[in-house]
Amino acid sequence: MNVSQLARSIAESPTLKLTEEARLLKEKGEAVIHLGAGEPKNKAPINAILSSAAKLNTGDVKYTPADGTPSLKKAIIRYTEENYDKMVAPENIIVSAGAKQSVFNLLFTLLNPQEEVIILAPYWVSYPEMVRMCYGVPVIVTPEDGSFHPRMKDIEQKVSSYTKAIIINSPNNPSGIMYSEQFIAEIINFCERKGIYCIMDDIYHKLIFDGRKPISAYKHTKKDLENSKVIVVNGISKLYGMTGFRIGWTVAPKALTGILTNVQGQITTTTSVILQAAAEGALMGIQSIVEGLRLMIENNRNIMIQELQSFNGVKVTKPDGTFYCLPDFSAYNSNSLELSKFLLKKALVVTVPGKEFGMDGYLRLSYCGTIKEIKQGIERIKWALDPNSPNEIFIGERKLVRDWL
Ligand code: PMP
Repeated sequence: MNVSQLARSIAESPTLKLTEEARLLKEKGEAVIHLGAGEPKNKAPINAILSSAAKLNTGDVKYTPADGTPSLKKAIIRYTEENYDKMVAPENIIVSAGAKQSVFNLLFTLLNPQEEVIILAPYWVSYPEMVRMCYGVPVIVTPEDGSFHPRMKDIEQKVSSYTKAIIINSPNNPSGIMYSEQFIAEIINFCERKGIYCIMDDIYHKLIFDGRKPISAYKHTKKDLENSKVIVVNGISKLYGMTGFRIGWTVAPKALTGILTNVQGQITTTTSVILQAAAEGALMGIQSIVEGLRLMIENNRNIMIQELQSFNGVKVTKPDGTFYCLPDFSAYNSNSLELSKFLLKKALVVTVPGKEFGMDGYLRLSYCGTIKEIKQGIERIKWALDPNSPNEIFIGERKLVRDWL
């Protein structure tokens, strides 16, 4: 097939691939447990449904301005004021088809060929691929002490004259760790001194536990928004469990937003007016849904951690937020691709190999499903790996006997 070398080199999204594999197995009647998912199971908020249905019912479904409808931008301005304590103008905002497109458009807009983007491991799988799709070079910084907290010293060592941006995702997919406020302050300060863009991927910023408060990057910049290097990306996918609506946004200096708008205008024109209406409904509607979702996920996190702590040989760092954790399974198999495949085959549990996030030997487990799925999923993993666990288990209707340990 005669396609570009670059396109050929782009890896398939492992999370999308695993979700599809799980769906196919379920379709065949297999009792699969999906601990790889990146979306909660809630229904969309009623205000989002009503608002998008009302727009659809008008029959007036047309293009919107490339940077988003004025009324959605108003809702995002309100959100930014309430949650970041920052007043921004409509010209600082661009709405895209999910935070994923927001990040991609930013990288496309910022990077010249061979320019570098610092990515902190463990990282969201899409960052390095997106950087490469924009002819840039991903530069990975891995914490040397085995923690999920990178150190400023390690970051500084990887910065070169080619460094154009750093991406910060806190709380972090896949580790669930939230970086300290001091670290965020230091990194913003460092970026602004060096003239490096600091992209804050805040998609999970309110999905945090144990009484933590979201950190506003704007609190730590000494510059006004127009001269700042801070760029904030956010969206409705995780906040309201509205992954299928595909709405994200970027808050950036006006000059940059203008160029982002030109870029987006040539690619997707805009994102759907119906989905923008849904996002507006969610942002302007009853907010108790966010707290309800957060509480449910915090409770699930507690159960997941309890289950994992009773698992011989598995080391887990308690997540501060998100709906993921990244336990260390290297005592069982340091090849996470192999281990993940084994668990799917033997125990019908979907996990995401840590290798995809730059941490081999680990597995990403998500706890956004039901309590039953979490408990049974971990029980099955124990059965498959731990010789001290009972060697018989029921998976669906079938009784299985372990004969490989
Ligand atoms: N950033 C991170 C860290 C994510 O985990 C995800 C979704 N998995 C996104 C961005 C993209 O979110 P969206 O659905 O808004 O495109």
